[in-house]
Amino acid sequence: MTGREPALSPAADPGARRSWSEAFASLLRKVAGNAVVLAHLPAQRRVAYAPRARIEALRDARIAAAVRHAARSVPHYRDTFRRLGIDPRSIATARDLGRLPLLDKDELLADLDRFVSETRSGRASIPFVSSGSSGKSARVHHDRRSLLANIAYGERERSVMVKLLGRELRYREASVGYPHGTIRKVRSFYQKATSIVRPSRLDLSVLAPFAETVERLNAFRPDVIVVFGNYLAALSRAVARSELKLVPPKVFVYGAEGLRREVRREIEATFGVPVISYYSAVETFKLGFLCEAREGFHVHEDLCHVRIVREDGSDASTGERGEVVISNLVNRGTVLLNYRLGDVASFADGACSCGRTFRLLDEVDGRVEDMLEIPDGRIVHPRAIWGVIKPHAEVLQYQLVEEEPHAYVLRLVTRAEDYPSVAPVVAHELEELLGSGARVRTERREKLAADRSGKVRLVVALAAADAR
Ligand SMILES: [Zn+2]
Repeated sequence: MTGREPALSPAADPGARRSWSEAFASLLRKVAGNAVVLAHLPAQRRVAYAPRARIEALRDARIAAAVRHAARSVPHYRDTFRRLGIDPRSIATARDLGRLPLLDKDELLADLDRFVSETRSGRASIPFVSSGSSGKSARVHHDRRSLLANIAYGERERSVMVKLLGRELRYREASVGYPHGTIRKVRSFYQKATSIVRPSRLDLSVLAPFAETVERLNAFRPDVIVVFGNYLAALSRAVARSELKLVPPKVFVYGAEGLRREVRREIEATFGVPVISYYSAVETFKLGFLCEAREGFHVHEDLCHVRIVREDGSDASTGERGEVVISNLVNRGTVLLNYRLGDVASFADGACSCGRTFRLLDEVDGRVEDMLEIPDGRIVHPRAIWGVIKPHAEVLQYQLVEEEPHAYVLRLVTRAEDYPSVAPVVAHELEELLGSGARVRTERREKLAADRSGKVRLVVALAAADAR
């Protein structure tokens, strides 16, 4: 889970003194942007409640269109169809997608550009970098039209918020996030491309000490607080231990990483308010969401087709846990069909009591990530570590392990020739982030060991290791 990152506010508008023609061009751009959003707006709240036959028809129409687009303009798929002798017109339903091979992240990383459409909108699409939950990050392009439509699709999640807040009006939202997160980039695109009204908001940094963040939240009194899952869990534990006093909002929204149901319940009990979540990833912005009933994640079936597969690639049955495989049905930038996302989940049986007819995923096994507790009282989220690594493309994979209080080993997977130049730089930057006498030594590794769940833990904290 990576998409809905809380983020900091964008910089002040540098175009305050633009010429008249620039201002007019910007206005035209916004009018065009608004038009795309508005065209997609009607029916967005209703679609989640539509009869199954209608949802499936919508989904299959989008599958057929995405496959045609891929076969026509995406080099990887053009070759795949030719090599396998598959007529793209024969892949027209969810069931047919099973005939296409599964795609894993290494395959995508090996040739990112060959997954980007060669159409004009594909070439003009905007790159986003995934958070690299496996320690490897991928660049995924989203075309402008699908980015705009995504605002309208957001109505499905907003309807949950409206139900929980009991009103439609503008609300106050605070988010605790990371300055270079995906959502900040998405929001800055929206601000340039549309003039859609947004809630009044306060953006805080995940890097600030807890006490300072809580003080600012209490002064702002938000209706909604948006945070990383593990950050919310840590905050809730601190409040439960009476170390901090946070005036609860009306709703918490977490993203970026999964929380187990018991942890969600614990947080709800601590604060006495509902906790909901948006499930998304850089590879597919709208994947699923927890509704007001919070019985599971509704899948945006017509935007992202989800399969749950066993280790051998066959489809798991309902209730059986397996790997989440997605096909993004709306993005015409980087096209991903049958892509192994790396999360683990299962489809739930039966319908949700909320009345929505979108299928439900049971618990999504997000990455359980360790937070580092720094002697100066800060809690460092793994995303902050990633923020340091992200600009260094030579780092193919990494893992930071706390060996003793405030002393760390950074394991790096790099090409042998890159290691001597990149390792000291990254180590130094991490020491600056961790502050107050942190020591970071580095090791070059050929590969990193996965834990029992098959995932590489990016940050291994001493306290958490003891607890395990
Ligand atoms: Zn529901």
